[in-house]
Amino acid sequence: MAGKRLGRGLSTTEGLPERAVERAVTLMRRGALFRYGEDVEGEAEAALLEAEFAAYMDARYCAAVNSGGCALFVALKAIGIEPGEKVLLNAFTLAPVPGAVAHAGGEPVMVEIGPDLTVDIGDLERKAARSGARVLLLSHMRGHIADMEAVLGVCERHAITLVEDCAHTLGARWDGALSGSFGRVACFSAQTFKHLNAGEGGLLTTDDADIAARAILLSGSYMFYRQHGARPGDEVFERHRWTTPNCSMRMSALAAALLRPQLADLDARCRRWNEAYGRLVGELARVPRIVLPARDPREGFVGSSLQFSLTGLDGDGVGRFLAECDARGVHVKWFGQREPVGFTSRHASWRYIAAPAVLPRTDAVLDALCDMRVPIDLTAEEARLIATIFREALERARDESGAERRSA
Ligand SMILES: *Cc1c(COP(=O)(O)O)cnc(C)c1O
Repeated sequence: MAGKRLGRGLSTTEGLPERAVERAVTLMRRGALFRYGEDVEGEAEAALLEAEFAAYMDARYCAAVNSGGCALFVALKAIGIEPGEKVLLNAFTLAPVPGAVAHAGGEPVMVEIGPDLTVDIGDLERKAARSGARVLLLSHMRGHIADMEAVLGVCERHAITLVEDCAHTLGARWDGALSGSFGRVACFSAQTFKHLNAGEGGLLTTDDADIAARAILLSGSYMFYRQHGARPGDEVFERHRWTTPNCSMRMSALAAALLRPQLADLDARCRRWNEAYGRLVGELARVPRIVLPARDPREGFVGSSLQFSLTGLDGDGVGRFLAECDARGVHVKWFGQREPVGFTSRHASWRYIAAPAVLPRTDAVLDALCDMRVPIDLTAEEARLIATIFREALERARDESGAERRSA
C-alpha cells in the first residue's frame, strides 16, 4: 500500500527576484548581453557584480566567469600550475573539481575524508609531505567545512597554496570568518542549485594582485580589463597581458544582472535555508537508523543540502530505500553507488586520473552516505512528511531483506 507522496520534487526552484527579471528583460530588449562594450565604459552589470561580490567577501579583487568549474580552472592557471603538477584534493568532491585540475594540466592527489565528511588532516599532512604538491584545492563539499585552522597549519608547514572551492559555502563561515576568506583564491558557482542562481556562472576572489590580473585575462577579457569592477591597477596588467592566454570563460551581462539582486538578499536566503534545514533535522531525529554527520560548533554552515548515513542496511537495502523514497516523490542520492549516476559520482569513477588512490576510509563513509537537496521554502508539513516517508521506506527495505534471508 503506497503512502502519501511529497507533492513536489526537492529540486523545485524558487523564482528569481522581480528586480532580476526586470533587469534581464531590459538587457534582452536592448540585445546588450556581452559584458564588455567598445563604445561605452559605463556601469556594466558584470563589473557591478564583481564590485559587489568583492565587497560581500571583503576581498580586494573579484573576477566573474561562466561556471564554478571554470573559476577553479582559472584559479589554478592563475596560480601557475605546471603540466603534470600534483594538486591535493579532498576525495569527497564533485566531478568538476578533479575535472578542473585535469583541464589545467594538473594531476589530482586524493586525500581521505573522515566521518564528518571533511578532509582527514592526518592524511593531508602525510600526502602534503610525500607528494610535493604546491597546491591544495579544498572543496567544502556539500557545505561541510573542515577545521580551517588545522588546514592552514598543514599548508604553512608544507608551503602549500590553498584554493577554496566554495560552491556550497557562499555565505557560510568557519569560526566567524567567511568561507572563502582563508585561501589565496576562493571560487564560487552560480549554477541553479547553488546559493545564487544564474543557471550557469562562477566567481573568483583573491587579495593577490598578480593572480587577479592573470585570472581576469585568462577569463577572456581581451584588453577590456579596465571594464572589471574589482581589479588591480593597470601596471599589474602590464606585467601579464602579453603572456596570459585568453580562455574565453566570461560571464554574460545577463547572468550578472540575474545575480546582483540575489547577492543583495544572500544573508536572508542563507537564513531561510537554515530554517528549512532545521525543520528537516528536527523531524529526522525521530527516524531510527538515520545518522547525521557531526558538525563542529565553529562551522556556520548553510543548510542547502542534507547528508545522512543509513545504519543496518547493506547496499541492496539502501537501493530499496532509495527506490521506495523515489516512488513517494522524495529523490535521495547515494554516494555509495558503484556507477556514476546523475550528479553523483565518487573518486573511483574518475578513471582519467593517472594514479588512482586507495582510500578505504573515504570509501567506508561514502558507501553509507545519502544526500538530498533542501528546498529553501521547505515547509514544516513537508519536513514531517519526508521523515514519515524515510521511516516507512526504511521499514520496508528492512522487511524485504528479512524476507530474503528467510526464503534463502
Ligand atoms: C557545483 C560545484 C562545482 C562546479 O560548479 P559549476 O558552476 O557547476 O561548474 C564545483 N565544486 C563543487 C563542490 C560543486 O558543488
